[in-house]
Amino acid sequence: MRSTCRSRNEVKEVVRRKILRPVMDQRRKMKKVDLHVHLDGAVRASTIWDVGKRRNMSLPGSSVEELQEHLTITDRGSLTEFLAVFAIHMPVICGDLEAIERVAYEFCEDCSNDNIIYCEARYCPHLLANDMENPFYADTKGNVSPLEVVKAVNRGLKKGCVDFNIKVKTILCCMRERPEWAQEILDLCLKFKDQGVVAIDLAGDENLDLKDIKSHDEHLRVFQEAEWLGLSRTVHAGENGPAEIVREAVYDMHAQRLGHGYHVLDDETLYKAVREKGVHFEACPVSSHMTGSVSTDWTKHPILRFARDGVNFSVNTDDPLLIGGFLSSEYETCTEKIGLSLEQIRNANLNAARATFLPEDEKQSLLKQLQEDYEKSDSSQGD
Ligand SMILES: [Zn+2]
Repeated sequence: MRSTCRSRNEVKEVVRRKILRPVMDQRRKMKKVDLHVHLDGAVRASTIWDVGKRRNMSLPGSSVEELQEHLTITDRGSLTEFLAVFAIHMPVICGDLEAIERVAYEFCEDCSNDNIIYCEARYCPHLLANDMENPFYADTKGNVSPLEVVKAVNRGLKKGCVDFNIKVKTILCCMRERPEWAQEILDLCLKFKDQGVVAIDLAGDENLDLKDIKSHDEHLRVFQEAEWLGLSRTVHAGENGPAEIVREAVYDMHAQRLGHGYHVLDDETLYKAVREKGVHFEACPVSSHMTGSVSTDWTKHPILRFARDGVNFSVNTDDPLLIGGFLSSEYETCTEKIGLSLEQIRNANLNAARATFLPEDEKQSLLKQLQEDYEKSDSSQGD
C-alpha cells in the first residue's frame, strides 16, 4: 500500500505530484461545496509531525515529507487497508484538545485555499476522546470526553471560519464497529445543533456487517429516533458493501444522503427507486478508487452513470490527507480520468448546495453564490 524505500528526491516528487497537485485553472478557481470530508482524514502532516514531537510520540519517517508519504495512499487497495492508515496519525491527536482545535482551524484554511465556500466536515468525537476504558486510538485512558472533543472542534472552526471567510458545519459519525456509542453521538448532535452540528452519520467498514447484510439494531434505532426528532441523516452505504445496505440506509434509517452509494448500481430496481426518491449521493472519486470500491477502469466509474441518468450526486474529497489533495484534485480526476465535463462538475456542485443540511434561506444564498461565480467565469472566458 505504501512504499518505504524512496530517495529524498523521489519523496519530494511524490509530495509535489500527489500532495500539492497544483491545478492553476478553472477547477481551482471555481467556488465549491464539499459535503463528505472527514475532519480526521484532513489533518496536515506538518501538524501531526509537530504534535507528535511535542508529545514525544514516535512517527514513521524522519521528516514531514517522509511522514506524509506514509499517510498518503498512492496505490489501490481495500477499504480495510485505507482505514488502517488512520492508526498512524490518530493516536497523535487523540485526547489532545489543543491539537484537535488546531486541526479544525487549519482545516478551514486548507478548504478556503481551494475555494471551498461551504463544507460539512464529519468526525466521530469518540475516536478523538480518551476517557473510556479502552480508548480506540489512545494507549491509556485519559480525561478528554467526546463532549470536550466537540467543543474543541467548534472552537477551531469558529475562529477558522472568521479568519478564512468560509462556512463549515459538522456531522457527527456513529461507527459501525461501536454501536454502544450511537446514543451518545445522537445526544451530542442534539446538544450542539445550534452550534454547527447539522446531522448524524454512520461510518466505518461496511464489510463488518456483511454476515447479516444488516446494520446493528442500535444504529437502526438511533437513526429512526434522529428522523423522529428532525435531525438530518447521512449514511455511508454501498461504498464497498452491497446494494442491500443502500436499501437499509434509505428505507430503514431514513438517510437523505448516502456516503458513496456506488453499489446501488448492482440492483437496478433499487437504483431506480432511490433515484426517483431524490436521495443525494456523496461521491468521492479518488477514495473510491483507492479503496477498491469501484472498477479499476476510471471510465466505468459509477458517477459517470449518475451524471448520465441525472442522479442527484456531488463530488467530494472524503480524506484529503490520505488521497493527497482537496476538491480541485478530485475535479481533475473527474475531468481527466473519468470523463465528466466542467458543466457536469458545476451541476454536481449545485446539487451539493441543494443537498446541504442548511436552513432553506442559507441554502438559497449558497446556490446564488455558486451560480454567480459560474456566470462570471463564463463571461470572462468570452471576453
Ligand atoms: Zn467517508
